Amino acid sequence: MSEIKIFSPATVANVACGFDVLGFCLDSIGDYMVLRKTSERGIKITKIDGFDLPYETEKNVAGVSALALYNDLKPECGFEIEIYKRIKPGSGIGSSAASASGSVYAMNELLGRPYDRTQLTFFAMQGEVLASQCEHADNLAPGIFGGFTLVKSTEPLKILSLPTPSDLFATLIHPQIEIKTADSRAVLPKDIPLERAITQWANVGSLVHALHTSDYQLLKESLNDVVIEPHRKKLIPYFDDVKTNAIKAGALGCAISGSGPSIFALSKGEETANMVEKAMQSVYSKSEIKFETYVSKINIEGIKTVK
Ligand code: ADP
Repeated sequence: MSEIKIFSPATVANVACGFDVLGFCLDSIGDYMVLRKTSERGIKITKIDGFDLPYETEKNVAGVSALALYNDLKPECGFEIEIYKRIKPGSGIGSSAASASGSVYAMNELLGRPYDRTQLTFFAMQGEVLASQCEHADNLAPGIFGGFTLVKSTEPLKILSLPTPSDLFATLIHPQIEIKTADSRAVLPKDIPLERAITQWANVGSLVHALHTSDYQLLKESLNDVVIEPHRKKLIPYFDDVKTNAIKAGALGCAISGSGPSIFALSKGEETANMVEKAMQSVYSKSEIKFETYVSKINIEGIKTVK
């Protein structure tokens, strides 16, 4: 095999209470990438379709992660990368992660799978450093492993694959506003009152239990973020209205996707997820802010090869 086309899905990081550790994978939105082996050594980005992103290998997260794998394995060949970007950069649904993980997944397939999923996540993390100045895997792991994931630690990198209740659907709304990464970090508290920390880790624990037991009621009770959301929601206009409407329409929970501005909700069943979509849309329809919405089953497969 000398060429491969892959689908690299969008992902939701944090999942309310699991800041920096939890994530899940979507299936109705994602990038496509084509990778080709070349006789000339090195990594070249030859096409970027959809959004304006750098072609220089070292400035594009897809190139940086590809180089990390390439320099580790030192294969005899080189690679050309084509990126068909469908996830808007900076939307909070893992645009950079889709590129960073897509290139290493595809290279690994073309090279006969010398690396496992955790090692691929490690290489992809080098790409994420370029986008966010820190090594994190909460958007990478769900794309590479599929379903829900928990990043137990980054040093050493340990990722847990969590079960996905079969009836779970996600609804997303992406208000077309820009939140600067620096701003979304600047609002974060340096210290957390102990009482809030207790609530948060109880929620993380019970969310994990709810996923294992397909307990939708417990999921509903656990999808609460008392640490990050109270600070970050100020950066997203109408966040409280979207959340209230989503819950009223039957969502189990609703929170900021990654560092925003996208907002996600989880629901039991597609019908409810569609009603939640309408309820979320009705908030931004009354404003000047343009938006896009998606309803998606949780993607348990993750990144995959396509024809
Ligand atoms: P998201 O949360 O949607 O992934 P990030 O803020 O993490 O958004 O990443 C977007 C940043 O990464 C932008 O500054 C963008 O220019 C940069 N970037 C570099 N290469 C890529 C790429 N291949 N795909 C997406 N973003 C990229």
